[in-house]
Amino acid sequence: MIIKDYLLDALNLLYPELCVACRKENPIQNAHLCVHCLSQFPETDHYDYPSENEMMDRFVGRVPLRFAAGLAYNYSEGIVQNILHGLKYQRKQDIGIVLGRRIGERLMESNQWELPDFIVPVPIHIIKKRKRGYNQCSLIANGINEVIKRKVVSDQLIKTKNNDSQTGMGRSDRVENILNSFHLRDSSKFNSKHVLLVDDVMTTGATLEACYLAFKDVVDVQFSVATVAISKS
Ligand SMILES: [Zn+2]
Repeated sequence: MIIKDYLLDALNLLYPELCVACRKENPIQNAHLCVHCLSQFPETDHYDYPSENEMMDRFVGRVPLRFAAGLAYNYSEGIVQNILHGLKYQRKQDIGIVLGRRIGERLMESNQWELPDFIVPVPIHIIKKRKRGYNQCSLIANGINEVIKRKVVSDQLIKTKNNDSQTGMGRSDRVENILNSFHLRDSSKFNSKHVLLVDDVMTTGATLEACYLAFKDVVDVQFSVATVAISKS
């Protein structure tokens, strides 16, 4: 444990945790969210129509997908954005597991999905992972797998480029920035498999498209995509 962790633990004792979304109410145990925010969580209907929804539409002509779904809408100033910020920048790792479990439940409830063979979290660069201490997408993937009980594969798809922040960049710049930034170690592991790619948020889809390109040598692979959030266009 580094000194920073001690300080954060001490602060948590002095200032008990508040709901990450509204920062007013006490959260329910291990969820980091209060009852009110949980009830306001803006879930999509994608899991009812996994092969025909706005997320699928955004990938048309770019990535052939079996199914795609975002769990909730990410409005510019809403609870989902606060939740994702807590997950990525405030060490609230439980949030990833909680949201992943919710995705897993939606997958199991829907009779439209075919469960994947492998769950592959979108990787982050090793330098970023060292800094943050974890990959938030791996936490989401683990939460999903707690419910659907397949296999999380997180050591095969690698982020090889440490891209700068993409905030404020247009779509073509984003694509250019991340193109070829992922590498698949052993493509033969994925032959004839159905892969569920997991990301925290879908905005332009450039990251997921770049991940898909890393699978170009795999024979007969099928893709689906699950994210916690989809930005409202
Ligand atoms: Zn709240």
